[in-house]
Order: sequence, then C-alpha cells, then structure tokens
Amino acid sequence: MVMPEAQPRRHALLALFAEAAGLFAAVLVTVSYSLLLARHTGSVLTLWIPNGIVLGALLSVPRQKWPAYLIAAFLGFMAGQAIGHGGVLGSGFALPLALGLSNGVEILIVAAVVRHVFPRIAKDTRFLLLGRIALGSGLVACMASALLAATVLRAANGQPFWTTADWWFRGHLLGLVIAATLTLVALLQRRRMLGLPGQRLLLLRDIVGLALVTVAVFFQARYPLLFVVFAPLLYVVFHHRFPGLVLGIAIIALVTSIATALGTGPFQLIVPATPERQAMLAQIFLGVLCITALPVALALADRRRLGRRVTESESRYRLLADYASDLVMRIARDGTRRYVSPSVKDLLGWEVGDFMDYRSELIHPDDRERVAAAAEELWNSGKPSLTQYRLQRRSGDYIWIEALVRIAPSPDRPGEMELIYTGRDITEAMQAERALADSEKRLRTITDNVPAVIAHIDANERYTFVNGYVREVAGQTPEEMVGKTVAEIRGPVLYASLKPHIERVLRGETEIFEYEAEYGGRHHYFQTTYLPATTGTGQQSGFYALTTEITRIKQAEQQLSYLAHYDVLTGIANRRFFSEGINAAVRHASMANSPLLVMLIDIDHFKQINDSYGHATGDAVLAEIATRLKSSIRKTDLLARLGGDEFVVLCDDIASHEIAETLAQKITRAMEMPIAVGAHTLTVTLSVGAALCRNAGSVDALMQRADEALYRAKERGRACYELSVTGV
Ligand code: GH3
Ligand code: MG
Repeated sequence: MVMPEAQPRRHALLALFAEAAGLFAAVLVTVSYSLLLARHTGSVLTLWIPNGIVLGALLSVPRQKWPAYLIAAFLGFMAGQAIGHGGVLGSGFALPLALGLSNGVEILIVAAVVRHVFPRIAKDTRFLLLGRIALGSGLVACMASALLAATVLRAANGQPFWTTADWWFRGHLLGLVIAATLTLVALLQRRRMLGLPGQRLLLLRDIVGLALVTVAVFFQARYPLLFVVFAPLLYVVFHHRFPGLVLGIAIIALVTSIATALGTGPFQLIVPATPERQAMLAQIFLGVLCITALPVALALADRRRLGRRVTESESRYRLLADYASDLVMRIARDGTRRYVSPSVKDLLGWEVGDFMDYRSELIHPDDRERVAAAAEELWNSGKPSLTQYRLQRRSGDYIWIEALVRIAPSPDRPGEMELIYTGRDITEAMQAERALADSEKRLRTITDNVPAVIAHIDANERYTFVNGYVREVAGQTPEEMVGKTVAEIRGPVLYASLKPHIERVLRGETEIFEYEAEYGGRHHYFQTTYLPATTGTGQQSGFYALTTEITRIKQAEQQLSYLAHYDVLTGIANRRFFSEGINAAVRHASMANSPLLVMLIDIDHFKQINDSYGHATGDAVLAEIATRLKSSIRKTDLLARLGGDEFVVLCDDIASHEIAETLAQKITRAMEMPIAVGAHTLTVTLSVGAALCRNAGSVDALMQRADEALYRAKERGRACYELSVTGV
C-alpha cells in the first residue's frame, strides 16, 4: 500500500537527485576544463571556477540539501580530476582526495558564514552587505584552503610551498568571487537569467556585442585595448542588471582564459611576461572587471529594492486615496490642488484635470462666504474644520458635501504647509434630516393647536417634547421645559403627587388621573393620561403625557352638585340633602343608642301672603325666614327647606326634652320681629312639630311623629310648637 505522503516524497527525492546530478556535471566540466586548459597550455590555473559554483548552489538551497550537494560536488571533483589528468588520478587516490577536502573546507567556511548572517537570500536581501560578508569570508576561506593545498602538494610532489599557496589563493579567490556570485544570481533569477520577457532579444544583442568586443580585444596582440571591454560590460550591467552581469563576466572570463592560455591577447605586449605572469595579469584584469561591475549591479539591486519598497508604500496610500469614494485633495495656500482623487468623477462628474484649479464658482452662492471664512479660520488657527456646503456637479445640480479639512506639512515641498481635504456626499443625509425637520414642524403645528398639553418624557423623567399649548396653561415655554425633569418643572409638592403615576406608566401601565394646580394665582383642574411610549423595536422609551384642563367641567360639576343639594331660593340644604343627612343620622343614632330631634316648621297662612303681596314678596319672606332659622340653630344642626313653606331642623345631640322645647321656642320666637319686604312690613308666625326619639326605628317613623306633632300645632291654632317625646 502506498502511503499518502509517499508520492510527494518520491518527487522531492527525484528533484534532489536531479539537482545533485546537475551540480556533479557542472563541477566535472569546470574541473576538467580548468585542468585540461592548464595542462594543454603549460600554465598554472588562472581561475578556479568549480568552488564558486558549489558555493552558489549551496547558498541557494536549504541546509538539509547540503550533504547531497557536497557529495555530488566531491564526486564531480574526483571525476573531473581524473579527466583533467588524462584518465588517471595522477599519483594515486590520496592526493585528489586531499585537494578535494581542501576545496570542501574553503566552500564550507564561506557557506556557513553567509548562511549564518542571511538565513534566506531573496529579492529583498541587502546585497551590498551580502557582497562584503562573502568577500571577507572568501578571503579567509581561500587562505585556509591555499595553506592546506600547499602543504599537501609539497608533501606529495615536493612543490614549493609559498608559490603553490600563492597561485592557489589567487585563482581560488577570483574564481570563488566570480563564480559564486554568478551562480547564486543565476539560481535566484532562474528563468529571468534569459532576460525579461520583452527584453530577451535586447539582452542577446548586448551580450553578442560584448562578446565581439572582447574577442576583438583579446584575439590581437598589437594594441593594449583592455579598457575597451569596460564600456560594453557596464552597459550590459546597467541595462540588464544581474543577468547582464552574470552573462557578461562569464563571456569575458571564457574569452580571456582561452586567449591567455593560447598565448594571444594584449598581455603579449608585455614582452618579458612569462605564461605565469600573463595568467596573473588575466586574473587581475578579470578581478578588476568584477570589482567594477559587481558593486554596480549590487547597488542597482539595492536601489531597486528600496525603490520597490517606497513605491509599495506610496502606492498603498495612493490606492486608498484613489479608490476612496470620498473626494480627497491636497490644496496649496493659493487654492490650487496638488492632488485630486479620481473619485471626483463619480462624486461631481468632473475629470481630475478639470478640478486642479480652485473653482469657487462651483460652491453654492449662499455657501461661498461661509466656506471662505472656514478656510481662512483654518489657515489662521491650524485646527481641523468640518464644513457642510453645496458643490455644483458638472450636470449643474448641487450636492451637499461634508468636508473635513486639516492642515499638514507638504510631503514634497519641505517647509510648506498644505490642506488635506476629505469631502463626502451627505446629500441623502441632509435630505433625510430636512424631511425629519419638516415632519417635526408639521407635528408641532398640529400639536400646538390642540387644546391640550402633549408631552413626551423619557425614562429619566426628562421632557423631550412639549407642545406650545403649555404656554396657555402653565405660562412656560416648551423650550424652557425640554431637557428638564418633571420634578424641576413641577416643583416638589406637585411632583410628589405625580410620582406614583410616573412610576406606574414607566412599568408599562396606562394611567388616567386628575389633579389640581395653582398657575398664575388661579386654581386649575387637569385630567392627564400617561401612555407608555415604545420605540420602533418595541422597547419602552419613557411615556407620553396628554393633559387637558377640566377646570370648567369641574366647576359645572360643582354647580350641579350644589343645585342637587341646595335650595336656590334660600341657600340652605334641600330635601335631597336633608334625606341623605337624616338617613345617616338615624343609622348613627341607632348604633349609638342616642336620641334625635326633628323639627318640622311650616309657615302659617303663607298662601295669604302670596295672594296679598305677590309671589316675589312670598319668596323674599321665605328667604328671610330661612336666614332667621339659620341664626337660631347651631352650626352642627341641619336646616333644610323641604319644599313650599315647609322647613326642617335635625339635631343629633339633644339630651332632654327640655332642651328640645327650648330650641322649639327659640324658633317660634325668631318670628316675633316683623319682616320688612319692600314697602311692606309683615308679621309671620310659624308652627313647629318636634319629635325627640330614641330608637325611632326608621326615618319614616321619625318623620311621621314630627308630622303628627306639626298637625297638632296647626290644630291648636298655629304660632306654637308641639313636642312628641319617645324613649328619652
Ligand atoms: P297653613 O297655615 O294651613 O299652612 O296655611 P297655608 O296658606 O300656609 O297653606 P299651605 O301651607 O298648604 O300652603 C302653602 C302655600 O305656599 C301654597 C303655595 O301657594 C305657597 N308656595 C309654595 N311654594 C312657594 C314658593 O316657592 N314661593 C311662594 N311665594 N309661595 C309658595
Ligand atoms: Mg303653611
């Protein structure tokens, strides 16, 4: 069974094998090429390339791959040695092995140092620093490998130590610097090594040109034209950067090393130069080329890296401004715009170009002064300003803009200040606000004309709305009430009486109640309905109070009640009042087992008065008699007119019949004074039927006894009283 991860792992292994095989081949070719060239021309090695290739390869991959790479490189080295020395490994296996290990030490020193400082090498790496560190560690590494190799070669072949160490060091350092850089760059750039897609032909053309110039310089020995190579190389580096550098140096190194090995080129002009000296001159030439071109390429890469970073951050912010739906502008002191965001097209219909100049005519005429004042204030105070105004669109209509403008140092003109303007379309919000204001105004007009006080009070008992009618009632204006609490407006006494109702309505109950209050020295009666108020989402938001004045109704009610209980002519209680009073008194007396005195009083021959002096005189007599009766009894006694010329007095605390008689006498005697009505003086007498009873049983029984006593008094000849006493 195949494990799920087996497939990708096999792929990775295959890929690693392919990479290792590539490295093996590269090392094999360069080792054998260098050795063959040196052997064929009889010169020493000018340039040791393989180590640089291996180092570049190691730096471009994670450390886990290093063992595989190193094994492949070692095998390539051994095979290359075999080929380079003519199919055999020279003096056995030990020497190539020792030299291979020296190369390995050299490679590993640089690889370890660079990897330590740069765990990852990519586009954004600081290449100048990388170059310095690689060169420093390369110097040390090549010294170490040169000493090792010189020791080995002296021991094996008896070669002079310092000469060997010298050419080894030079050839290796130069090869390492050139080849490692080029390999690393090539591996990092990968496909871009062949040039950027539209520039491949140009790269090819420039490289071919460089190759032709180099060949022309090196395959002649008449003129010292070495400097001619610099111009096309720098051109290639400037135009194609790393790919140009890699391919350019590679071409020059190839041509130089072949020409020098073949004994041609400008170095031949130096007559006493031995092949070794010429090789050294070629090394110096290639080294100078590298030292000249590499920093240029590195500096270009660094510049690009920084430039990319600046562009990225710039484009990020520009993106915000460019794609914001708000209008974003940078405005100079004189009003000209330094930047206008493309949203101006969507917002106002203008092109960015149309909007670069200050165009005050686009501001609504009514708003111009305000906007100018706001701008002036902003420049003077330096504080951000928020202004709402109308701007004309290209189509001619106006939209409302809310502009937040602040002052800031200009990003591209040192020492200068400019305005950063952000404007947004608030037309819809303004329309909604206006519609709300209109509807509120309508509501106010309606409510102000309702003869009732309508108010909304929030959960904190603060007035949020009061209609204008409150002026008529309380003399306060809605403006001075809104925002204040009920307690503040109504005062502690009235608030105390309203509080229970407020508590209940805030619990969600509807309250209807009446209350009285003094306003402007007048007593008022009110009826109030408290309705719980709810928001759109069903939450309670305080309550509505609807208050109507009911003073008139109250007065009419009181009038009716008065009329129902009092006699209009005499102003004393009427039969109805009396009957309520006597019912209560009989109940009370029977419970307390106390006596009650009822005196029925009838005017004698009253009909004659009417007949002789007229009805009005009769009425005046009735009123005067009522007054006299009132003054002959105590305040606690109940006096009433039962109808016609009949009155009644009810007393509930008469302890004995003597007191009852005294009272009856007092009443009859009250008539001794004649009554003056207009021009007439009349003498009127009364008949009184009194009943003093304990446990009369019922009102009717009590009244019956008094009636009978009155009847007897009339029978006796009038102007007298009769007292009937029961149980006293
Ligand atoms: P008596 O001594 O038997 O009581 O004789 P009297 O004439 O008073 O007879 P009675 O009490 O039966 O008559 C009452 C009269 O009172 C009859 C009516 O004309 C008169 N009267 C009743 N109500 C009014 C009233 O409101 N105003 C006036 N002016 N007269 C009234
Ligand atoms: Mg009478």
